[in-house]
Amino acid sequence: MYPHAHFITGFLFGVIGWRFGIINAVDMFIIAAGAVLIDIDHYIYYIIRHKDLNPKRFWNKSAEYGITKEENERTFIHHLPGMTIIIPLLFILLFFSLRIGYIAITIYIPHMILDHLNYINKRLSEYHVVDIFGLKFLWNFAQESLFFILTAISMVLLYSAL
Ligand SMILES: [Zn+2]
Repeated sequence: MYPHAHFITGFLFGVIGWRFGIINAVDMFIIAAGAVLIDIDHYIYYIIRHKDLNPKRFWNKSAEYGITKEENERTFIHHLPGMTIIIPLLFILLFFSLRIGYIAITIYIPHMILDHLNYINKRLSEYHVVDIFGLKFLWNFAQESLFFILTAISMVLLYSAL
């Protein structure tokens, strides 16, 4: 899934947490940013494997993997073995701090769900390559529809919470 989808999903859970008084307003943005930043493992993996720091080449290489429907270059945090270790640990965090636990859980779990939905979607539907200033994006109707639905829900919730 693309950064904008991860950002808005994190933000949505941030708004919900803020609405219920679990986290503060700044935490909403921490969750949204965190949901994007945990993809840093793709970049680190890319740097190590290809010995290349260029973020543009990294981005386009990731898009290429998407086109060929190959599995992305991911580390254990994106795979089932990593998840089975990380998810229980995140829930244990809740016993120490509801706020920190909520932030960690809503950064990680929705991100993994979205990535795996995207992976299934890639096998089922067509993606079109869009070039924006030399950066390749894979455009897909289902993916972008989900993004707009999540954006609309978070805006309504945010508005009702203000
Ligand atoms: Zn990811």
